[in-house]
Amino acid sequence: MLLDVKDVSLSLKREGKYSKILDQVSFHVNNGETVGIVGESGCGKSMTALSLMRLLPDKAKLDGEIRLEDELISSYSNRKMQKIRGNQASMIFQDPLTSLNPLHTVGKQIEESLLLHTSLSKQERRKRVIKLLNDVGLPRADELIDEYPHQLSGGMRQRIMIAMAMACEPKLLICDEPTTALDVTVQAQILELMNELKERTRMGIIMITHDLGVVAEVCDRVIVMYAGKVVETAPVEELFENPKHPYTKGLMQSIPKLGIRKQMLGSIAGTVPSPENMPAGCRFADRCSQAMDVCKTNVPQMTQVKKNHKTACWLYENKGVKKDAAAGSEQ
Ligand code: SF4
Ligand code: MG
Repeated sequence: MLLDVKDVSLSLKREGKYSKILDQVSFHVNNGETVGIVGESGCGKSMTALSLMRLLPDKAKLDGEIRLEDELISSYSNRKMQKIRGNQASMIFQDPLTSLNPLHTVGKQIEESLLLHTSLSKQERRKRVIKLLNDVGLPRADELIDEYPHQLSGGMRQRIMIAMAMACEPKLLICDEPTTALDVTVQAQILELMNELKERTRMGIIMITHDLGVVAEVCDRVIVMYAGKVVETAPVEELFENPKHPYTKGLMQSIPKLGIRKQMLGSIAGTVPSPENMPAGCRFADRCSQAMDVCKTNVPQMTQVKKNHKTACWLYENKGVKKDAAAGSEQ
């Protein structure tokens, strides 16, 4: 196992009070596997990623255990985490333009983590940067290395971000909505590149997205998050064919047909509850058409419904046996 996340909770201080943003999040990632984290915005996807990388605001309270290749990195000091970030684990974000420094050449930016984490000579670094640019499918690497971000298209910039993230051959790559800002054709090319890199390097990838089209294209397994909790996890085909949690089903129904990806998630009526107003029982209860009395008062636990398929919903309590006969419209 490459990454093992166990019972991770995160509280952030807001207006003098702590709010729980993540509640006992558990999942794992294997080498050579892409795990998707999906959910509407505000469900804790990005905060999960930032917790893994420990890119958290001051006074954040992080509990639980995070292991990267059996190292308990959640116990590391911030200083020790700096040696992990950009080295064993890297992250790429949605908007490459805000993440790239407009004043530095492409080459200089990619070189930065090589300077930080390796003892390569100047010449060796330049060679490595050119190889990285080739690896991410960018043409005329020996010229590109001396160009500035504004001279490049959005797709090229995202490739630069990937090259930066890949510079030190990370074991784990975390991608937070990496293609959301790109048009559909470029998006497809970037996703193809990520698949290629994964095959070539056997790194593990966490793909954070609210686009189930992206999930279908690159993910092996999926974690569905709702209001700071994991509510379902399954291999990607299983999740698409046999979603169990009413929230996951709602997300599936919001997938636009005919490959048109314009619409994003959000066709489920209502909104995600805020951490300050979390319902006592199931957090989805207010929006769930199948909610029962127990849902309002008791928190459902993750229950195995099939091999490798788990969900936290009172409909499936008792090892996958449905409690509610009225919910029999799907078997
Ligand atoms: Fe709906 Fe109840 Fe399941 Fe929550 S636990 S998703 S309210 S049926
Ligand atoms: Mg986000």
